[in-house]
Amino acid sequence: MATSSLAVSSLNVPMNSIFIGGQWVTPEGRDLIPVDNPATSEVIASIVDADCSDVHAAFTAARTALPAWSDLTADQRADHLDALADALHKYGDDLATLASREIGMPISESRAVQAGLPEAVLRSTADVARHFAWNYVDASGSQIIREPVGVVLGITPWNFPVHQIVAKLAPALVAGCTIVIKPAELTPLNALFLARLCAEVGIPAGVVNVVTGRGSTTGEMLVQSDGYDLVTFTGSLTVGRHIGAVAGQRVVRATLELGGKSPAVVLDDDGLVDAVRTTVRNCFTNAGQKCNAPTRLIVPEEARARATEIAVAAANEYVIGDPLDEATTMGPLASAAQRDKVLGYVEGAKSRGATVAGGTPVDGLFVRPAIITDVEEHDPVVQDEIFGPVLVILGHHGEDDAVRLANDTPYGLSAEVWSSDASQAQRVVRRIKAGQVRVNGVRSPRLPIAPFGGYKASGLGRELGPFALEEFLEIKAVLGRTDEPEEKR
Ligand code: NAD
Repeated sequence: MATSSLAVSSLNVPMNSIFIGGQWVTPEGRDLIPVDNPATSEVIASIVDADCSDVHAAFTAARTALPAWSDLTADQRADHLDALADALHKYGDDLATLASREIGMPISESRAVQAGLPEAVLRSTADVARHFAWNYVDASGSQIIREPVGVVLGITPWNFPVHQIVAKLAPALVAGCTIVIKPAELTPLNALFLARLCAEVGIPAGVVNVVTGRGSTTGEMLVQSDGYDLVTFTGSLTVGRHIGAVAGQRVVRATLELGGKSPAVVLDDDGLVDAVRTTVRNCFTNAGQKCNAPTRLIVPEEARARATEIAVAAANEYVIGDPLDEATTMGPLASAAQRDKVLGYVEGAKSRGATVAGGTPVDGLFVRPAIITDVEEHDPVVQDEIFGPVLVILGHHGEDDAVRLANDTPYGLSAEVWSSDASQAQRVVRRIKAGQVRVNGVRSPRLPIAPFGGYKASGLGRELGPFALEEFLEIKAVLGRTDEPEEKR
């Protein structure tokens, strides 16, 4: 099963190895976990299920590297991020291909979000750091100093694997922290590739460490360790609650980026076709395995039948197949567990009388996207995060009802609002409990600095831009005279 290295372009990524203190370590006697291509079920490689001694070594390396790294100026650390961004640019196609093989994302999506987006996040975070107020004197005459929190533990999911690592690594590093990353066991190879790039561009040994393994083994050992000063987690609500509880017990900071059940609220039927087609596209990116996917389309009740027709027609246009084929617009689900979960929700909704188009298995892990309507507001398909290509359409009876439905889940990650009346859009935006609200189908800005994160059960903290940097900084107030503060740039 195991291969000794995975050739990714001219760079080889050693298999069955973890990256600690700038070295590739191949620990003996660990369980090996196969990494599958979900489109073909082929085993691409295997990884190590790291144990306690690996965890200890990784935190020791990160702790050892901390003083020298945090002593660099912010500008010097920002230069390292730019160098890593250049490497992502150079090897972007390889990274995108690898990510598509690991997760099944269509290659055109992979290029944008697994390579292009992380590169932009690295560059924009470097820029934020160069203009950040690291040191200032407040109105009381106190000196305010921002200092790195210390050693960071980053635990990430599989759905946008490169982006989710970079969204943690970039602000942590530029803040002056060092990091131990544990990627998801379904998608560890891109994390190892990223480690290879960190070494290639000369990020000092121990600043970035990657430890692979299962959540229940390696992940749990990492979380229970006293080796870190802050844990930043992206993943499910269940695991997030657990990590938050452990962090709370130890009084270390935790940022949690959790799930979502985001609404797309259409307030009138002007532009219904555009609203519905855009929602379908945003919902089915990465076969719906996207935390901020708008999975609940809430339209005026009188427009619900027409909206459903438009959505079903848009869903039928998906080309399902090999993620590496440029013509493919939907790949497989990432694992058999994901496929079974999606099909289970669809069957459950049918059994409770819902009208369902699609949602049928194709081959292997491929599933046709589902459009569901005629469901109760508290049906599991309306309330639960399914994390697959399932869009539910609900009808509202005016603005108040639309807002009530939009807010009626435990989550609050993001929302979309469609209205031909700008003042109504603004009013509704203010009433929706979500960390990010998009109006009338606006696309993500090229500069990825708008804060991303959730209200309610969608999490604690924000990623991207200056708000992300804040998460990795301590605040020190100095009362009384010292020398004038030096800008630590
Ligand atoms: P998951 O919670 O199962 O796993 C996430 C990570 O946690 C993995 O690396 C896993 O190995 C690790 N883990 C699992 N158990 C652990 C434990 N006991 N201790 C330490 N680590 C442990 O989530 P997933 O299935 O990989 O990802 C899907 C979830 O992630 C969805 O709920 C999705 O909404 C969420 N997500 C959120 C965002 C966001 O920014 N809000 C982004 C992407 C995904």
